[in-house]
Amino acid sequence: MANVKKVLIVGGGIGGLSTAIALENVGIKTEIVEIQKEYDVYGVGVILQSNAVRVLDDIGVLDEVIARGKSYERLQMCSPQGHAFHELPAQQAGKHKINCGISRKELHNILYAEAIKKGVTIRLGLTVDVIQENEDAVYVEFTDGSIGDYDLVVGADGINSKVRNLVFGELKPKFVGQAVWRYKMNRPKDMPDALQMYFGKKNKAGIVPMSEDTVYVFVVTKEPDNSWKPEDQLHVLMKETLEEFGGFISELRDQIVDPKGVVYRPISTLLLDKPWNRGRVLIIGDAAHATTPHMAMGAAIAIEDGVVLAELLKQDLPLEEAFTTFSERRFERCKLIVETSNTLVEWELLMSEGKLPKECNMNQLIDETTIKMAEAY
Ligand SMILES: Cc1cc2nc3c(=O)[nH]c(=O)nc-3n(C[C@H](O)[C@H](O)[C@H](O)COP(=O)(O)OP(=O)(O)OC[C@H]3O[C@@H](n4cnc5c(N)ncnc54)[C@H](O)[C@@H]3O)c2cc1C
Repeated sequence: MANVKKVLIVGGGIGGLSTAIALENVGIKTEIVEIQKEYDVYGVGVILQSNAVRVLDDIGVLDEVIARGKSYERLQMCSPQGHAFHELPAQQAGKHKINCGISRKELHNILYAEAIKKGVTIRLGLTVDVIQENEDAVYVEFTDGSIGDYDLVVGADGINSKVRNLVFGELKPKFVGQAVWRYKMNRPKDMPDALQMYFGKKNKAGIVPMSEDTVYVFVVTKEPDNSWKPEDQLHVLMKETLEEFGGFISELRDQIVDPKGVVYRPISTLLLDKPWNRGRVLIIGDAAHATTPHMAMGAAIAIEDGVVLAELLKQDLPLEEAFTTFSERRFERCKLIVETSNTLVEWELLMSEGKLPKECNMNQLIDETTIKMAEAY
């Protein structure tokens, strides 16, 4: 590995930890700096579709993810009363043909433990202050006063990335006019082996398997003003948003009793134009391509970024050539997810006003994009 021996990753979320594991797997030393003093990862889950399953297998943590999460075989689109009118089976991606849901905390614990096992240095409670590229290294000053020289710096610090802003200039995410509410619940005994999405007149809701005994319920609401919500009323408000639904959702709704258990997130989007590097500084994950959750693939594409980077660095190409190939392999694929998700947002907003044109076929768009993303990355 003549070109790159030592990498700094800024941000130790799903993308940063996975990238560190992938790089260590090909013999590159990595160090992560994470701004949180102590990790605070919420307990509701994350949907890992077949492409996420494949890439988690590629970094060597899939068995653990399946053991601690819940694999399931299909997506069901349902009426507000819970009658399935369309199904999409899990796609074959690599060796597997499953989707999986898992608590974010569990996924984090798996990635963190694997990173430590691989020898990644993780420093909490700090970030970068200065990033300065020299001829053959990047000089970095950290907020605790320490300094370091690295062959490469990877910005994996999420949608409001400081690294991106330092290197590419200020770029603001765009709020899309919707928010997502999530709550962890006990799994109904007779729930099918599926992720269910319910399309209501006002909102879209869903039930995501998370373990043998648990699911999380989500609901996507229209929030044109992005208004503040009283924290002690979140449970009452979330229950109200679910009133239009029957089926399993009406059974589960009464489990929403604790305002602190509600994870409420306004949603935003951002796509950095390619290339995602300036010299020896590369931006990946949400920092480069933050997608709304409508295709549930933001985590998958963040992890893929790290694996593709490791694959290219392993080939010992001149760095600029590696980055050009990285852009070629990653940009269109990530753009597809960001743009398809934005289209689904627009269509859902139109649907909530009863104005969705007939030719806008959500099932078809979700199916086609999911099938496309199951192709090799
Ligand atoms: C409501 C919602 C639901 C979603 N559901 C799904 C889903 O079901 N499936 C899916 O695949 N995707 C989903 N996503 C998207 C997914 O969560 C993201 O795409 C994924 O987390 C991106 O990983 P990341 O590591 O790039 O960023 P992040 O997960 O945001 O991690 C960034 C890390 O960097 C740290 N950090 C931030 N700033 C700094 C700094 N200056 N210095 C150092 N560290 C810093 C943060 O603390 C964090 O640990 C969802 C997103 C939203 C908003």
